[in-house]
Amino acid sequence: MAGTRTFTMIKPDAVSAGNSGAIIKMIEEAGFKIIAMKKTAMSKETAGKFYAVHAERPFYNDLTTYMSSGSIIPMILEKDNAVEDFRKLIGATNPKEAEEGTIRALFAESIEANAIHG
Ligand code: GDP
Repeated sequence: MAGTRTFTMIKPDAVSAGNSGAIIKMIEEAGFKIIAMKKTAMSKETAGKFYAVHAERPFYNDLTTYMSSGSIIPMILEKDNAVEDFRKLIGATNPKEAEEGTIRALFAESIEANAIHG
């Protein structure tokens, strides 16, 4: 079985802090296969479309400014039970609530600049 796929992005805070290598290592060690990956950046407009679901939230403008502030590394990952297992690997949205040893507990700067997209 090929497993299931999930989409992620290493966010600008983690890329600029030089944490992308450590994060990719954790992803691979957790058993995810990287199907596709590139280093790129989003315009504010693209970030706005990507987070359209949050358009009514008070943090939408800050979030789209932040997500277009620097390089990102989007990836397509594959693993059995990929979506659920990836959530466990990255931890809660707010790093203060993220379980010890998760990517966000280790690398997130704040609830907004939280290292990785799930
Ligand atoms: P995720 O699925 O864990 O990434 O969380 P959500 O889909 O709920 O939110 C998307 C992204 O919006 C999060 O990863 C954060 O970067 C940001 N975000 C979520 N909640 C807040 C908040 O209360 N304040 C701010 N500034 N950003 C937030």
